[in-house]
Amino acid sequence: MADLLSIINPATETLLQELPVDDSAAVAAKYNRARGAQPEWAALSLGDRIAPILRFRDLLIERVDTLAALLTSETGKPVTQARSEILALPGRIDFFVENAERVLSPHRVYAEPAGAALGTGTLEEVISQEPLGVIANISAWNYPYFVGGNVFIPALMMGNAVLYKPSEFATLTGGAIADLLHEAGIPQDIFMPVVGSGLTGAALLEQPIDGVFFTGSYATGQKIAVAAAPKLIRTQLELGGKDPAYVCPDANVAVAAAGLADGAFYNNGQSCCAVERIYVHTDVYDEFLEAFMATVKGFKLGDPTDPDTYLGPVSRKPQLDVLADQVADAIAKGATRRGGGERLDRSGWYFAPTVLTEVNHTMTVMQEETFGPVIGIQRVDSDEEAVALMQDTPYGLTAAVYGTERERAVGILRQLKTGSAYWNCCDRVSPRLPWSGRGHSGLGATLSLAGISTFLQPRAWHLRAG
Ligand code: NDP
Repeated sequence: MADLLSIINPATETLLQELPVDDSAAVAAKYNRARGAQPEWAALSLGDRIAPILRFRDLLIERVDTLAALLTSETGKPVTQARSEILALPGRIDFFVENAERVLSPHRVYAEPAGAALGTGTLEEVISQEPLGVIANISAWNYPYFVGGNVFIPALMMGNAVLYKPSEFATLTGGAIADLLHEAGIPQDIFMPVVGSGLTGAALLEQPIDGVFFTGSYATGQKIAVAAAPKLIRTQLELGGKDPAYVCPDANVAVAAAGLADGAFYNNGQSCCAVERIYVHTDVYDEFLEAFMATVKGFKLGDPTDPDTYLGPVSRKPQLDVLADQVADAIAKGATRRGGGERLDRSGWYFAPTVLTEVNHTMTVMQEETFGPVIGIQRVDSDEEAVALMQDTPYGLTAAVYGTERERAVGILRQLKTGSAYWNCCDRVSPRLPWSGRGHSGLGATLSLAGISTFLQPRAWHLRAG
């Protein structure tokens, strides 16, 4: 009998469902089915592959209420944020659809003029694109529609078969995504969910797959890279961050405070690009802190099924200890706690939104990924000090600068090694721009044209007329 995966509601701590886990044999069987089906899928016209994806897009919109309720039940994501995530995926799908042909079409890069060659005819050089084959998509729980969709939509469109391993904390949503894709017309064997925990993910990597596209933590990302290395397959890792923001002395403080509070606490801080460290120039520090605290106090915490709730429970119980440890470490080293700081005395995995000031870089809260509703705010005396502190991290996902002078902000952002740079905004993703990390934040890019071509491999054609 198969092991069972228990799905728990983080807001109520009640058991939602128990699902049979795919063991190694089940994973291998799914792989074989995908391998067998992929050539026929790749042989379809691009239009025939796009048609079911457009139906999937429409179904997302049609079923948003049910899908959002399911996502909220297993992750605790406030339902309004769950709806926003689901309703934003169609925009990403539109981008992929509009650009698929441009990326996939073969193109002639050279044609020798008639009669110029010494041989019997003219030479043409053409580049065509081929799908990778069968890929593994190992996904995180915090934005299953976004981080999954960034991979499986373009991967399917380009002719790959996808073995989709949702996080064990978003497995029901993973199943719902698979059902919707199949209902929309994606063949059963071309997109298959693989159910289980990290062990199932590891079993998936033992199969002779052609690529692995992973979203998750740096710690697991390293294991994925090690497992994939001997296979010499395309390996893409979208990992965590310790994303900094700096408020310059000339910033519009109200805009900065509102934007950064949302950037730090949206989805309970459980975003890869959540603002995790804030540096504020001393000239505007007091004004900023007051406005920031006022915004945080205005966030409604509670039942995630209530449309007015902004902060729900954290999605994973062990994270409560990580948050409590970071707060305790900071306070022991001299930080001031401005509200929050502990688990709430109620059922569900609720942690009070916490702002720490008088922080410094000896504290884990300013060094390690927090991934929850806790933020450190540090006073700085100059742009140079802010840059040095922002650079003090092995991560490199995003960084933000708030201020009125574009050149000053861009000059600061240029000195930081991050995949995304924000001026007067933060925690933002666009389908038109590549999503990538530097250092411990990962390898490769999703979204943009790069996020389509990453599911292809080029072939060089040297064609001489005989
Ligand atoms: P984890 O690294 O814990 O897990 C990610 C996925 O890998 C899950 O599906 C997990 O399964 C699976 N997994 C775990 N161990 C293994 C293994 N040995 N072999 C194969 N698969 C394995 O991350 P979380 O799901 O907790 O996600 C949070 C992390 O993701 C944060 O660090 C966040 O910053 C990052 N993230 C990065 C994004 C980006 O775009 N850069 C976007 C979103 C999140 P299971 O859950 O079942 O254990």
